[in-house]
This record gives sequence, structure tokens and C-alpha cells, in this order.
Amino acid sequence: MKIGIMGGTFNPIHHGHLVTAAEALNQFSLEKVIFIPSGDPPHKDYREEEIAEHRYLMTVIATSSNSKFFVSRIEIDRKGKSYTIDTLKELKKTYGMDTEFYFITGADAILEILTWKKTEEIISLCYMIAATRPGYNLLKLEELKKDLSGMTGNNVDSKILVMEVPALAISSTDIRERIKSGRPIDYLVPEGVSNYIFKHGLYR
Ligand code: NAP
Repeated sequence: MKIGIMGGTFNPIHHGHLVTAAEALNQFSLEKVIFIPSGDPPHKDYREEEIAEHRYLMTVIATSSNSKFFVSRIEIDRKGKSYTIDTLKELKKTYGMDTEFYFITGADAILEILTWKKTEEIISLCYMIAATRPGYNLLKLEELKKDLSGMTGNNVDSKILVMEVPALAISSTDIRERIKSGRPIDYLVPEGVSNYIFKHGLYR
């Protein structure tokens, strides 16, 4: 079985994330994609954790119409920082060691992987899909692959995959800034997510 894991803060989830997951599903012949909103991201401040439940619910709303998209509370419910290695180990226990995992996230996040907890073990447990927007400079990812190959003693070329997604011109940061300054977010996020944001007065 091949399963995609969409790791992200999803603050908020937007169409760029949804297109990324759909593209990975197709390109890598995945059976399903599990969105896993981080509970308490190790590299972020407390504000992300404070609205974890909202981030989770918006992810559920955004993915509900796709029968191959699922959302997990695994990181939202786990106490302490949300380390990817802990999530992967838990998923391996649930789905079995034979399942192949494809961890999908933004290329900028993957560039920081050397600072993550137990980098080498992460690479041994899954493929990483670095989602980029067109025009992204791939040089740093190539350097990262060299560093990781040196660190693990194995060629990691086949383990770090790059996927270009034009819709990633949309960003959560831009959406939050738009809301703060009263500009529209129509068509950047699913309508249900937009309604949820305004109903709960998020990002004002
Ligand atoms: P981030 O640093 O906020 O995101 C970096 C870039 O990647 C942003 O442009 C972001 O765009 C984009 N991005 C994030 N998730 C994406 C996704 N699933 N698909 C496409 N683009 C995505 O990263 P983050 O969201 O906090 O973390 C990404 C993942 O890495 C999470 O699963 C997190 O738990 C994991 N992580 C683990 C560790 C660790 O184990 N020590 C440390 C850091 C991160 P948007 O802002 O528009 O989403």
C-alpha cells in the first residue's frame, strides 16, 4: 500500500494544498492522502497551537468532498511538540511496515530537514515529496540531497522527490495578511473554509 501524508500547519488550508495532494495522489499512484495538521509545530510560536482545533476543522471541511482525502488528529491530540518522526512511527504501527509512506510538504520546509528530530530515521521510513511553485530554485534541494547522502551513507536521490505545483502561488501567509487588511480571499480557499474563518473571526 502507498499512502501520502500531507504534513503542514494548514493555517489556513488553501487550494494550493488541495491541488498538491491531488497531484501527488496521481503522480505517485497513492491509495489515499492523509492530511495531518501539526499540533504544536517545533519551529513555531504558541499561536499555531492555540488555534490547532480551528486548523484541524478547516482541514476537515476542505477535504470532505474527496473520497481519497482523510484527516488525522494524531498530531493535534499528541501532547508536546509535533515531531514528524513520532508521527511516522505511529503510522507504521497502524498500517504495517510494508506500507510505503510519501510525506508531502513544502520544499522550504524540507530544506530544514537536517534540523528535524532524527532526520536519518525519517528518511529511512518514508519518501519525501517536496512541493514547489514554478520557478523555484532547485539548487538548495540538490545540496540537501548531497548532505543527506553523506550523512546516511546511502544515495538519497530516490527518497527526495520534487513536485512542481503552479497552485502553490497561493500561500497561507498571504491569506492571513489579506484578511487582516480586509482584502478578499475568494477562490483562494474553499468556500466552506472562508465561511468558517469569518464565522470565527480568525486572523483579524
Ligand atoms: P512551514 O515552514 O510553515 O512551510 C514552509 C513552506 O511550505 C511554506 O511556503 C508553506 O506554505 C509550504 N507548505 C507547508 N506544508 C505544505 C504542504 N503540505 N503542501 C504544500 N506546501 C506546504 O512548514 P509547516 O507547515 O510548519 O511544516 C511542514 C511539515 O513539516 C509539518 O508536517 C511539520 O510538522 C513538519 N516539520 C517537522 C519538524 C520536526 O519534526 N522537527 C520540524 C519542522 C517541520 P503555506 O504556509 O501556504 O502552507
